[in-house]
Amino acid sequence: MKIWIMFLVVLALIVGLFYEIRQTQKKVDGFDELIALNNNTQYAIMGEQVRISHYLLGHDHAHPVKACNECGLLQQLTIRQIELDDETVRLSELLIYDPDNQANKERLEEVVLETSLIARHLYSADERAKRITAIINQSRK
Ligand SMILES: [Zn+2]
Repeated sequence: MKIWIMFLVVLALIVGLFYEIRQTQKKVDGFDELIALNNNTQYAIMGEQVRISHYLLGHDHAHPVKACNECGLLQQLTIRQIELDDETVRLSELLIYDPDNQANKERLEEVVLETSLIARHLYSADERAKRITAIINQSRK
């Protein structure tokens, strides 16, 4: 009888221990999520700090800074613009030899439209950056 009671007590302790381990594991998982969230926030703050520093220097899409978030986006647009320029040349050459090719005509219209949208986006990004630089410099006086 005594041995059964001891067995039940040990069993209860083991079950309790496993429960405790599971609860601790859940807490650790929660901490991991918090740390990951904190890292994301820190990364975003650092990116914004680099961006503000770049604004102080005079942000210009033609002179990208490696760690600047905005420069990264603008560089992607610039790369896309180069691809579109190449496609414009290729399509124009094709249309010289086959001026009635409707598919090439339509594609050329799309490419020209996308090129002008990107050019407008790059221009407005530079203009916005100039205004922000002016505001930052004014507030520092
Ligand atoms: Zn930048």
